[in-house]
Amino acid sequence: MLPGYVDGAPVAPRIVAALSVPVRTIPSIDLLGMRISRVNRAETLEILQEFINSGKPHLVVTADASGHVIAAGDPEYRRIVNEAALVTPDSTGILWAARKLGTPLEERVSGVDLAEQLCAESARRGYGVYFYGAAPGVAEAAAETMRKRYPGANIVGTVDGFQNSPEQQAALLADIKAKRPAVLLVAMGIPKQEKWIRQHLEELGVPVCMGVGGTFDVFSGRAKRAPLWMQRHGLEWLYRLIQNPKKYSKVATLPVFTLRVLLRRRLPGS
Ligand code: UDP
Repeated sequence: MLPGYVDGAPVAPRIVAALSVPVRTIPSIDLLGMRISRVNRAETLEILQEFINSGKPHLVVTADASGHVIAAGDPEYRRIVNEAALVTPDSTGILWAARKLGTPLEERVSGVDLAEQLCAESARRGYGVYFYGAAPGVAEAAAETMRKRYPGANIVGTVDGFQNSPEQQAALLADIKAKRPAVLLVAMGIPKQEKWIRQHLEELGVPVCMGVGGTFDVFSGRAKRAPLWMQRHGLEWLYRLIQNPKKYSKVATLPVFTLRVLLRRRLPGS
């Protein structure tokens, strides 16, 4: 058993039961009403492999500050996150808040890093990964990058995130079921991606279903990741804003989040 997984490890007072029975007990903290798993990157990868080995469906959320603010006004999204099998700390904002509230977390476990690691593991182990989301052509370009970077990466499907008609949805669901991937990465932004996964989780039966936001834009080269120094100083949001001013509404949630933390304002109903 890994350190940090022993019973009796200091966990926050309020722990909400996970939707899928976890393969191991995953400790979590209570971030003002949002459950965040107390995991580092290495532990997360082991847990995801255990999910895959179990063959049962699991919803994985990569939580950032904007998600916390969205959760305040969206009870459905709030419930989905708090019932997910795993909620990783995606952003420096979440790490800052956890430290401020006296329940520090070890490191960022971001969706884009996890998605890349899963592609690398797919090349090693051969399991299937399905990309759903982003503008037309982007998921395919992202898959190409991963195949080049990790020869043998078994990306079994790529579909853009604008399958809005009932016929398109039916075709998409049938394709995922037929291809039986171990991992389904859904990149349609918060909270759309998590709601879509939650709605189809049992029907699809994919062991790891994870919302990954703008990850395919990054993999395909359409969006660049902030330089490491900016990531380390918690300035990724500034870099994204400069790259894409449409991100303003997401960035605008940051002061709201900061204030919620400083005032210790809990999510409604928590
Ligand atoms: N997107 C999509 N379908 C939609 C709306 C958005 O596939 O109906 C995609 C969009 O093209 C982009 C991603 O979802 O690739 C959203 O990325 P963002 O970085 O905004 O996600 P978040 O910050 O919410 O994690």
